[in-house]
Order: sequence, then C-alpha cells, then structure tokens
Amino acid sequence: MIKASNITKVFGKNEVLKDISTTINKGEVVTVIGPSGSGKSTFLRCLNLLEQPTSGEIYIKDVNITDGKVDKLEIRKNIGMVFQHFHLFPHMTVLENVTYAPQKVKKQSKETALKNGKELLAKVGLTDKEDAYPNRLSGGQKQRVAIARALAMDPEIMLFDEPTSALDPEMVKEVLDVMKDLVDTGMTMVIVTHEMNFAKEVADKVLFLDDGVLMEEGNPKEFFDKPKTTRAIDFLDKVL
Ligand code: ADP
Ligand code: MG
Repeated sequence: MIKASNITKVFGKNEVLKDISTTINKGEVVTVIGPSGSGKSTFLRCLNLLEQPTSGEIYIKDVNITDGKVDKLEIRKNIGMVFQHFHLFPHMTVLENVTYAPQKVKKQSKETALKNGKELLAKVGLTDKEDAYPNRLSGGQKQRVAIARALAMDPEIMLFDEPTSALDPEMVKEVLDVMKDLVDTGMTMVIVTHEMNFAKEVADKVLFLDDGVLMEEGNPKEFFDKPKTTRAIDFLDKVL
C-alpha cells in the first residue's frame, strides 16, 4: 500500500529524515515511536505530501507520488489524517464538519453525505452531538469528530499524529477505543504515538525513529521486549 524508498528531508541545514525506507502492506497497522524531534511528524507528513521529501520516493499503491507530477489533492482524498490538535472547523457544527469535504471534494449529494456522516458519528459515539459546535466538546469528543471527518472521505489509509497527546488522561481511552475499532475493520494505519501499550497491542509493526534515522523496524513484541539498539533501550527506559 505504501512504499518509502530512501526518504530524506532537509530543512535549511537540518537533515531531519535520513535515508528512510519501509514498506507498509494493505491492512497493516504501523506505530511510529521515538523521541521528540526525531522526525516522526515529518515522516508522516511526507506520506501525504504535506511535506515534499528532499530526495527518495514514496509509492502509494504503485504510484510514485514524489515525482512532482501527481495531483496532491487527489492523493490526499485517499489518505485521511488526524492531528494532535484536532483542526476542526470552528464555525461548523459536528455534522457539518463531517459532511463538508465529501460534498465539496468528492461531490457527494447532501443526502448521501448526511447519511454517511450520521453513521460515522454513531460509530464514534457522538450522535447526540451532531448539532453542537466544536467549542462545546471535550478534547476526546473533538478527536472522535476529527476521526469521523477523516473517515467520511472513505480513505484507504489513515495517518494519526499523536492523536491523544493533547488530551486529558481520562479521555485517552475513548479515542484509543475508536482507533481499535478501526484497526478491526482492516484499515491501513500509520500512527505516531507515545501510548506504548497501545503501540505494542495494535501494531503489526513498530518503527523506531531517532534523530531522523529509522533505527529499528519490526515486530512490536520483539521490539518492546528485546530492543536491539542502545538508543531504543534508552528511549524505552525513559517512557516505560
Ligand atoms: P517529531 O514529530 O518526532 O517530534 P518533527 O518531525 O516534528 O519531529 O521534527 C523533526 C525536526 O525537524 C525537528 O528538529 C524540527 O525542529 C524540524 N522541523 C520540523 N518541521 C520543520 C519546518 N517546517 N521547518 C524547519 N524545521 C522543521
Ligand atoms: Mg511530532
């Protein structure tokens, strides 16, 4: 589904991604962990061209999206993204947030968009909030709306950048539970997270980034139980 070959990203003189290569198969759940500033967000943002890699190639379903010829909006239609800080449209109700892009970008009829939107809001447990504005919601509710909104585009890939990092502790579980439901549907997911138990439990594969280098890649149980590099051992010592 996703193939990254020798990705580098340079900001000014700062090489923040160094020769990263990995493959993510359809239906796989990949968690990306590593210290702050290690390049996790930049890597994720390269996958939907929110950042253009400085060199290297990214293939989504065998299409090279880094050759400068592709329509970025077309690529992003198929790749949903959920951010740490929700990024909901503040002037729209919950239901409008979820139904806007399908109508505008996918040219869905209002009727279809409303039907799908209501179904998605039911799935994330927010039917009673359809007409509320984002500023009336808790952080956990906002993030569940953001997930429903991304899913409303019916993407084949979902990217999550620290979706629970801005939440009060008691709201983390409701968001992780929604993400687990999504894992069970077979969605291809790439998740940057500091929730190590979650990362271990749901992932088919863990990527450990340190200073822009993909230091370790592999089975979560092996990684968490027997990390190979000193960097990973030090990191896990600090967070577990
Ligand atoms: P992480 O998500 O692992 O905390 P980031 O990908 O956000 O790491 O950042 C990696 C490095 O790239 C950091 O040193 C950060 O300051 C730098 N960086 C990220 N985005 C930009 C940008 N748009 N311009 C310049 N430097 C950036
Ligand atoms: Mg980040």
